Amino acid sequence: EKQRLLELQNIPPVTRNGQRIHLRANIGLISDVNVAKTHGAEGVGLYRTEFPYMARSSFPDRQDQYLLYKKVVKDFAGTPVTIRTLDIGGDKALPYFTQPKEDNPFMGWRSVRVSLDNLDIFQTQIEAILMAAKHGPIRLLFPMISNMEEIRTCKIIVEKAKDNLRKEKILFAEDIPLGAMIEVPAAVRLASHLAKEVDFFALGTNDLIQYLLAADRSNPLVEKYYDPLHPAVLLSIGCVVAAAHNNNIELCACGEMATDPACLLALIGLGIHEFSLSAPYIPRLKNFINRIDTVAAEELLQSLLLQADSHSIREALDQAIRNLP
Ligand code: PEP
Ligand code: MG
Repeated sequence: EKQRLLELQNIPPVTRNGQRIHLRANIGLISDVNVAKTHGAEGVGLYRTEFPYMARSSFPDRQDQYLLYKKVVKDFAGTPVTIRTLDIGGDKALPYFTQPKEDNPFMGWRSVRVSLDNLDIFQTQIEAILMAAKHGPIRLLFPMISNMEEIRTCKIIVEKAKDNLRKEKILFAEDIPLGAMIEVPAAVRLASHLAKEVDFFALGTNDLIQYLLAADRSNPLVEKYYDPLHPAVLLSIGCVVAAAHNNNIELCACGEMATDPACLLALIGLGIHEFSLSAPYIPRLKNFINRIDTVAAEELLQSLLLQADSHSIREALDQAIRNLP
């Protein structure tokens, strides 16, 4: 098993018909970096920066954050690292930051909404990320975008952060790619407009599924409603892929969905070639990707997108997997 892991580590995932697929890691704490590397992740598609914030007793200052982000990007030596700004609220709290008690925390004051209401904290984090980007290919990602004003304000804060670093005569990277997470249904419908504001999309399947289907991702009582192969999910993802494609920007699918082979086949069939997921899944997904053909997957999805019932979608995908060479 260990030997097999090592063999696979440096082999890039390619489909049977020669399409290169990128499998990147989701990371949180610094200990995840090694897990990502031993499992052969190609860089980081989602660095959840709230985890290092959560592990402390006060807000990290700019220098602390800079050193941490720099260490991560240097560890990945040239492969891209997508750093997402603070995504607290919902089920994630900081012990030293008062968050109001809310009746519906996942629909409440969370993620980029908290950042935009605390511009000092937000700008400090962005400055640290811009500084770290001097040391490697960092991409900056804003979570839970639900309207145009938010992404435009985020971009203004990036410019303010740059002005401030210039004033302080601190080195930073001028041109780092900016991205929006597409994880709220409104952002799906706005995707073609959002695509004109950013350099890449990160599809947040965990949240997108829960918001589309009104099924809390962490509530076992509604687990059966939380269905990644619900046709509404696949159709929505199809719209996001089309918007990214038409505007020539990159799209990375993040979240647990891609760890299920049937779902991964569906996402590849929808035209997605870049994924970010929990690293221990990577070796077995590489094996799976070697066996599939993207043209066949795309044809299959064309017909599945016409179906209204997720059971038959699941059955057709399972059948296609059983028939793989
Ligand atoms: C998601 O929502 O799919 C995602 C990748 O981010 P998180 O799980 O941190 O909300
Ligand atoms: Mg999310």
